[in-house]
Amino acid sequence: MTRALFLFAQIAVVVGAAWALTHRWPGRIAIDWQGWRIDMSVGLLVLVIAILIVLVVIVARFWGAIRRAPGQFFESRRMSRRQRGYKALTQGMVAVAAGDVQEARRAARRADALLDEPPLTMLLSAQAAQLGGEETAARRYFEAMLDHPDTAFLGVRGLLMQAIKAGDKAEALRLAERAYRLRPETEWVVDQLFELQVESALWSDANETIATAIRRKTLPAADARRRRAAVLVEQSRVAEAEGDLDTALSRAREAHDLDPGLVPATLALARLFKAKDRVGRAVRLIEEAWARGPTPELGAAYGALIEETDPLVRVKRFQRLFSFRPDHRESHIALAEASLAARLWGEARKHLDAAGGNAPTAGVCRLMAELEELENGDMAASRQWLARATTAMPDEAWVCNSCGAVAGSWTALCGNCNEFGSLAWQPPPRAMRLAAPKPAPSASDRSQRKPSLPSRQGERKPPPTP
Ligand SMILES: [Zn+2]
Repeated sequence: MTRALFLFAQIAVVVGAAWALTHRWPGRIAIDWQGWRIDMSVGLLVLVIAILIVLVVIVARFWGAIRRAPGQFFESRRMSRRQRGYKALTQGMVAVAAGDVQEARRAARRADALLDEPPLTMLLSAQAAQLGGEETAARRYFEAMLDHPDTAFLGVRGLLMQAIKAGDKAEALRLAERAYRLRPETEWVVDQLFELQVESALWSDANETIATAIRRKTLPAADARRRRAAVLVEQSRVAEAEGDLDTALSRAREAHDLDPGLVPATLALARLFKAKDRVGRAVRLIEEAWARGPTPELGAAYGALIEETDPLVRVKRFQRLFSFRPDHRESHIALAEASLAARLWGEARKHLDAAGGNAPTAGVCRLMAELEELENGDMAASRQWLARATTAMPDEAWVCNSCGAVAGSWTALCGNCNEFGSLAWQPPPRAMRLAAPKPAPSASDRSQRKPSLPSRQGERKPPPTP
């Protein structure tokens, strides 16, 4: 506006000046040019020339403005597209979080059309496709993301989740390894890789993964140590089965040092010490574990270490074991069993009474039945105890925290549901208690007696599953 006023002022000045000139210089000018004849006063000529100059200036300015206009126009259009693109991206992410398939898809298409940034929009497109159940489309987006360094990790993650969902273990393991190479310090990557490795029983790979995680402090220390101990026990078992006792011993020792409360590690180590003619060391190991928390498996292992066959000598040895935890029911049961074998009926009854109290478990009931039969030949009393065993509190066992299955012995993976570290020493679920009462053990298989009295020692929480 001011510029236009200024222009008009300029024109007015020129016109005024020309008018004044016309009157001051009254002379005329005549021009002959190719048949044209112009005849005017000098003042008018000056006026015409001045007007022409002004016109040229105006046209030149206007032309410049026209030439610049498209650039400015497209620049502002581009900025506005970007803004709308980012807005669509944000809306799409919100829609994905809210589970709104239609909105997520619309926003993904809008963002893709407005933004020339495939890394950003591909993730949204993939998530929108997944939300809509189009796994194949999602996979295409994830695969395209692998080509961009910025999005490769997200692409691998997407494909890994798809492989796990589809149950493709081999592909999942391959992708988890790739994710681990890209981001070795990311907790969920380590968790996922470890889980896939143990599911495939790749114990040494799993050991390496968890050892690195412990070194780099990627995982919570106590949890990682427990997990590593379980893996080492399995590694020790593999080496033992292959006859490599040295490796087996060193793995078992590592496992025991990492998690002294892990009974299977103690048992493996004691067994291997015995195989290496270090019975004294094995005995001390079991006695230490007994002091921490007696279990039937530890009692059986202790019995296996005693070379004397004289039942009375064996009772003496079990009295020593008893002395480490005279307060524990499992100590009474172990001593009662040794006393039964030595025909020390009074001793056996005393310890079974102490172990059973008011509510003897199924295991104690079966030992009482055996005592009645052996001591007095009282078959009626024996049958009564056996009947009572079927309804009594069940004995603790290795029970899976994930699926509730009862395992005969400890393994790092539940044999039923394949969950890692889920077996804990605890009473079986109620349904299992009623389902299958165990047969009464005979005098000959007492050392393989199923776990009986409560002992919380072996009970551990399984590692949290990511
Ligand atoms: Zn299970």
